[in-house]
Amino acid sequence: MKRLELHWQILIGLILGILYGFFFPDNVKYVDWLGELFIRALKMIIVPLIVASLISGITNIGSSKSLGRLGLKTLGYYLMTSALAIITGLILVNLIEPGVGASLGLTEEVEELEAAKGKSMRDTLINIIPENIVKAFANTDMLSIIFFSILFGFFITRINKTSRDFMINFFNSAFEVMMKLTMFIIRFTPLGIFGIVAGVVAEESNNLAELAGRMGWYMLTVIGALFIHSSIIMPVLLRTLGKSNPAKHFKYMRSVLLTAFSTSSSGATLSFTMNAVENDVGVSNKVTSFTLPLGATINMDGTALYECVAAMFIAQAYGIDLAFGQQIIVVATALLASIGAAGIPMAGLVMISIILTAVGLPLEGVGLILAVDRILDMFRTSVNVWSDSCGAAIIGKSEGEKLNI
Ligand code: ASP
Repeated sequence: MKRLELHWQILIGLILGILYGFFFPDNVKYVDWLGELFIRALKMIIVPLIVASLISGITNIGSSKSLGRLGLKTLGYYLMTSALAIITGLILVNLIEPGVGASLGLTEEVEELEAAKGKSMRDTLINIIPENIVKAFANTDMLSIIFFSILFGFFITRINKTSRDFMINFFNSAFEVMMKLTMFIIRFTPLGIFGIVAGVVAEESNNLAELAGRMGWYMLTVIGALFIHSSIIMPVLLRTLGKSNPAKHFKYMRSVLLTAFSTSSSGATLSFTMNAVENDVGVSNKVTSFTLPLGATINMDGTALYECVAAMFIAQAYGIDLAFGQQIIVVATALLASIGAAGIPMAGLVMISIILTAVGLPLEGVGLILAVDRILDMFRTSVNVWSDSCGAAIIGKSEGEKLNI
C-alpha cells in the first residue's frame, strides 16, 4: 500500500492531538513526551545542519568559475529581493499583530528571557565574534556560529587545490548527510505534532477558540505578506528592472509553481524551473544554469518572509515587545536563515531557531507554529521558486538577452 503523504499524516496527527487533549486532558503525560522528543531532535540537528549547509554553499559559490560580474550581480539582486520580502512580512506582522494578547500560557517565564531584558544592539554585534568557538557551539550562539562558518567556507576556497577539493567534498558530503538526517526527523512530525498539540489543547482547554483564532490570524499574516510580495513587488521588479510582462511570465511558470506548491521543495522543483525558464521564457542556458541552482539554494524570499513573521509571532505570543534594534536583528537573521535553509520541505522550520536564539527567545516557541508549518511551507516554497524565476529573467534581460515575455 502506498504510504500517505506527509501533509496528510500531519493533518491526522493534528486532529488526533486536538481530540486527545480535549477528551483526556488528565492523561496527556502519556503522549506529550512525543512532542518533547521531536523538539529535542530538531534542536539536535540545527547546529550541524547550518554549519554544513553554509560551508558547502559558500565553497560551491566560491569555486564556480562564473563568480565574477554575473555572480556579484545575481547575489546582490537575490539579497535585495529577500530583504524586500522580509520587510513586507515585518510590516504586516506589526500591523496585524497576530500573537499580541494571545494568552497561550507562555507568559510566566518571560522575566527570564533575554529578549525581555533587551540585549543591546551593541552587545549583540560585538558578540558575533566569539571569544571561544567551542563555547559558541555549546551555547548555540547562532550568530557566532554563522560568522565562523562563513569565514571558514571562504578560506577553504583560498587554499591549495588538493586540500581544497578534500574540504569541499567533505562538507558537501556532510551537508548531504545532514539533509538526509533532517528528512528522517521530519518524517516524525505527525507524532511530534500529536504530542505537542495534545499538551497545548489540554492546558488551554478554556481558551481553545482563542488559540485557533490566533493561529488563523498568524496564517493569514504569512499568506497575505507572501501574496503582496509575489503579486505586487516581484511583478513591479520584473516590469521596471526586467522590462518584461509579468503576466506572461506567470503563464509560463504556472505548472512549475504548482509543482513547488505540492512538493514544498525548491530543490525538487529545480529541474522544472530550469526547463521552463530556458525553453519557455527564453533565458540563455548560461544565465539559467548559474542563477537558478544558486537561487534554489540561497534565494528564498518566501522562507525569509516566513522566518521573520514566525519569529515576531512567537515574540508577541510570549508577550515580548521587541525593540527596534532587536527587530533589525530579526531581519538580518531571517535573511541568514533563508540563505542557510535547504530546499527541502520544512527546512524553514528548523532555521527559525537561529532567529529565536539571536534575540533570546526560547526555542520551545517553535512548538507553537509547528502544527501549521507544513501548510505554510507550500505557499512559501511557491514564492521561493517564483522569485528565482523572476530573478533569472531580470538577470538575463540585464545581460542583453531577448526574452519571450
Ligand atoms: N520548503 C522550502 C523550499 O524548499 C524551504 C522552507 O522550508 O522554507 O524552498
